Formats: sequence, C-alpha cells, structure tokens
Amino acid sequence: MLKIFIYNNFINFVILSKLYMIPKSHPRYESLIQREKIKDAYKEGYLADSGMIAHGRGEAFDYLIGEKTTLSSEKAIKASVATLLLAKNPVISVNGNSTALAAKEIVNLANETNSKIEINLFYRTEERVHIISNIYRNLGYENILGDDSENLKYINNIDSPRATASEEGIYSADLVLVSLEDGDRAEVLVNNGKKVIAIDLNPLSRTAKAVDITIVDNIVRAIPLMIKYAKQLKSKDKSYLKKIVNDFSNAENLKESLDLIEIAKIEE
Ligand code: ATP
Ligand code: MG
Repeated sequence: MLKIFIYNNFINFVILSKLYMIPKSHPRYESLIQREKIKDAYKEGYLADSGMIAHGRGEAFDYLIGEKTTLSSEKAIKASVATLLLAKNPVISVNGNSTALAAKEIVNLANETNSKIEINLFYRTEERVHIISNIYRNLGYENILGDDSENLKYINNIDSPRATASEEGIYSADLVLVSLEDGDRAEVLVNNGKKVIAIDLNPLSRTAKAVDITIVDNIVRAIPLMIKYAKQLKSKDKSYLKKIVNDFSNAENLKESLDLIEIAKIEE
C-alpha cells in the first residue's frame, strides 16, 4: 500500500513538473502533454518506437477534428457504452500507447462496465508486458489478462502473433474494445464473430472501417466521457440500451466524421 502511495505521488510529481515547463497558454498544451507521456513510455521501455509514429498519425487527425469531442463521436461513445453494458464478457484491450495516455481511466471504465482488461501488444516483448502489467497493478488493478505468454491461445487457430489472446479474456470475449489498434488485428477479431469497438482518430483506417462502432476521438477524451455515460446508463433496462445500439450506424457515423474534416478544410 505504502509502495503504491509513494509510486503514485512520484508519478504525479514528474507529471506536474512537466506541466510547469509547458505554459498552459500554449495553443498545443494538451497535445504537448500527451507527447511527453508517449516519450516517457518509450524511455521507460514499454512503448515500441513505432508506437510514437502511430501517436503522430493520431495527432494529425486530432488537429483536423479541432482537438475536441465532436457530436458524432459523442453518439458513438453512447452507443459503445450501451454495447459494453449489454455484453456478457467484454474485454478492454490495452497496449503501450493506451496505457501511457489513459491507464487510470481505463481501470475506471473497466470497473464501471464490468469489463476485463487484457494486454495485447503489436510488438510483444516480455519486458513490455511486465512493465505494463505492473502499471495496472500499481493502480490497484490486480486481474490483468494477457500477461502469461506461455498460455496465450490463437483465435480460430490462426497461427499469427496478430491472433493471440488469453482464454478467459479476448479469446472467449463477445465484445472487445480496442484503441490504437492495427487493422489486421481488428479484422481477425471481427471475422471471428466478436463485436468490436475501436477508439481511432483516423476515420479512414482499416480498423475504423472494419469494426462495429468507431469512436473517432482521442483516447484521452473518449474514455472519461465513456465513464460518464456508463454511470448514467448502467441503471437503465436492457431494452433502453438495445434501442441506443440499434439506432446507431457506424457507416453513417464515419461519414459524419469525414464531413466535419471537410468543413474544417473549407473554413481554413
Ligand atoms: P490500420 O492498420 O487500422 O489501417 P494504421 O496502420 O493507419 O491503421 P496503426 O499504427 O496501425 O495505424 O494504428 C494506430 C491508429 O491509432 C491510427 O489510426 C491513429 O490515427 C490512431 N491514434 C493515434 N493516437 C491516438 C489517440 N491518442 N487516440 C485515438 N486514436 C489514436
Ligand atoms: Mg496498421
């Protein structure tokens, strides 16, 4: 307990000292804070170098949507939370990027929606898995899945690192929430009958197009809003939640997101 307290205070101190170095008035303040977190995760050894490039691609799309949650992404968020609350075995898949940017919020969302958390890394190494599982343990979350490399299974016997999953988690999940996910992996999940929700700033990525619900938003804004909706919706009955899900069309929602980017271009 004392160790967790000291660790959390140390992390807060590191973050705060960086906050003071970047003036709040800076127009890219939030974006620069995220960069610092991504850089730290790389230095701490749990984020692959290509994770930094993936973050940069996200930044560009975030710029285009105005670095705020749009009305269309809020609709996708509401439908996602209703889907999570209706699922039997929902799992939140985490990697280096999502952990660097939103580990605490991911734990809160898992608790609010009765979801499991599973580590799934595109460039999997034992060291990265170990550091990430410790981050969740230090946040008080003990049951992290996907940390036991010996016992991972291959979804539908697809012999590829893209198809690995833990038996109680993603392998048997009816719903998987992914963020900053690669298209190959998202397609494996969808093609094997799982419902998939993706948080992905790029409405044109293979992931965004393949999944059931795409939240075109930055994970740092999307997850806190999902927590807010989970608190509101968890007392509602199933028919209310089903209506929210049935009224949602991912194709239409992606089109709305793209239209917003077009408008931003014209207004420039
Ligand atoms: P795909 O493989 O699905 O076609 P990709 O190859 O373009 O996508 P990847 O590097 O595989 O991209 O996945 C990273 C995705 O995560 C990118 O689409 C990027 O826009 C998105 N992304 C990056 N940072 C964030 C963030 N903070 N929040 C949400 N999405 C992000
Ligand atoms: Mg990719």
